[in-house]
Amino acid sequence: MNGLDLLGPEQRGLFIGGSWREAEAGKRLDVVDPADGSVLTDVADGSVADAVEALDAAVAAQASWATTPPRERGEILRRAFELVTERADAFAHLMSLEMGKTVAEARGEVTYGAEFFRWYAEEAVRIHGRWMQAPGGGSRLLTIKKPVGPCLFITPWNFPLAMGTRKIGPAIAAGCTMVVKPASQTPLTMLALAAVLEEAGLPGGVLNVVTTSHTGEFSETLQADDRLRKVSFTGSTGVGKVLVRQSADQLQRLSMELGGNAPFLVFEDADVDAAVDGAMIAKMRNMGEACTAANRFLVHSSVAQEFADKLGKRMGGLTVGRGQDDGVDVGPLIDERAVETVSQLVTDAVHDGARVVCGGQAPDGPGYFYAPTVLLDVPVDAEINVQEIFGPVAPISTFEDEADAIRMANDTEYGLASYVYTRDLSRTIRLAEALEFGMVGVNTGLISNPAAPFGGVKSSGFGREGGFEGIEEYLETTYVALPAG
Ligand code: NAP
Repeated sequence: MNGLDLLGPEQRGLFIGGSWREAEAGKRLDVVDPADGSVLTDVADGSVADAVEALDAAVAAQASWATTPPRERGEILRRAFELVTERADAFAHLMSLEMGKTVAEARGEVTYGAEFFRWYAEEAVRIHGRWMQAPGGGSRLLTIKKPVGPCLFITPWNFPLAMGTRKIGPAIAAGCTMVVKPASQTPLTMLALAAVLEEAGLPGGVLNVVTTSHTGEFSETLQADDRLRKVSFTGSTGVGKVLVRQSADQLQRLSMELGGNAPFLVFEDADVDAAVDGAMIAKMRNMGEACTAANRFLVHSSVAQEFADKLGKRMGGLTVGRGQDDGVDVGPLIDERAVETVSQLVTDAVHDGARVVCGGQAPDGPGYFYAPTVLLDVPVDAEINVQEIFGPVAPISTFEDEADAIRMANDTEYGLASYVYTRDLSRTIRLAEALEFGMVGVNTGLISNPAAPFGGVKSSGFGREGGFEGIEEYLETTYVALPAG
């Protein structure tokens, strides 16, 4: 299986109301292989009319889905978990083809992404309200949890499977119906996922998938519709702000999983080898194209040279190439624009005084590759420390003491992930409390876990995905006042 065979010809269409069909206007959208720029295949290019039809289907299915027993909803998710797991290699290949990441890495995303189905299969049967005596004793308070209603999900290209399952899993468990719009650069994995959910017995209309290049019009039209009750978005902060504004007239509920600018702090008492291991994961997961990617390495001046040398040796030893080839560690970036952005940030940092420890350039084409790069002595206010790099570049700046480190770490509009390497427990507690981030990894470079509440603060958005918190995003509370009897 090369992955593309997960999808029959009709499944490269739109999935609306439980049926696969062409876009209303018959238009198609090319899917490009980022390893060489060639066209892999194409999918339906849905119009705004198709989007409205998908919402019609979600609205029509909402009432019966909300009253479907939780166990039934959970078991559909459980079957979907098993089907994705059985086909993990094919999913990994498909994702690698359309997105560029290595097959091994994509395999990791399949495990991570599928787990949201298993976790929420288990949570579907644990949705409950509460019963209590009013403090004055004269009445009883009952709360009931109900599904929010039809949702719109918009997902990015960097984790084509997991960013979908993180929303679809809890929504199905909670009894919500949905319209999903995957990134137009990586629509195939979402279509394959829809096919799996169909096979797992999900009733028609609960999940509708529309692939489209009419992205702005699509969200504007659906958000203007008062039948849509919730928007969950994962992507850039700029687009997130547009969606928040568009939600105002209908007061839709929102979950916003936006950009990051994660600091990776290495203190003088850290195990430097462990910090380098962690840095390899926090930086190089997904070629650096992750919202959780360590973006700024802030290292105590006494260990900065050692850390840079060791990280440079590891990064410089990585093999760059096509994600499906054996022995490749680092695949291509998503497109030419991504390579240009990374190149510009590195050029500017070097101009500002950074030293190149390894890498520092894009190899000749074809494909959208960038060499794993380590930069030392990066001025703390360099643009590379301000914006998301979204590429395999580790800029290192130094600090002198803990207060300095905390101030530098928090000096960003973002607040998603942060990483800390220290052996001092008291310091760990101080940092966990002082860092203005939704997530703090302590002596680890990998924080994502389906059982944990993933999300950010400040310009990284709001809402949580995963864990016990994740399902709350899809539930409303009705309070019932009762007499004491
Ligand atoms: P993006 O440009 O914001 O795109 C994300 C999604 O939004 C795509 O499906 C895109 O569709 C769609 N979109 C763009 N403009 C839109 C509009 N006006 N209305 C509705 N949808 C619109 O982000 P990206 O480059 O794909 O993803 C990278 C970003 O996502 C980074 O900032 C990263 O940090 C963030 N991210 C955050 C998390 C998290 O959990 N916090 C996780 C992963 C990624 P098209 O593809 O058709 O343009």
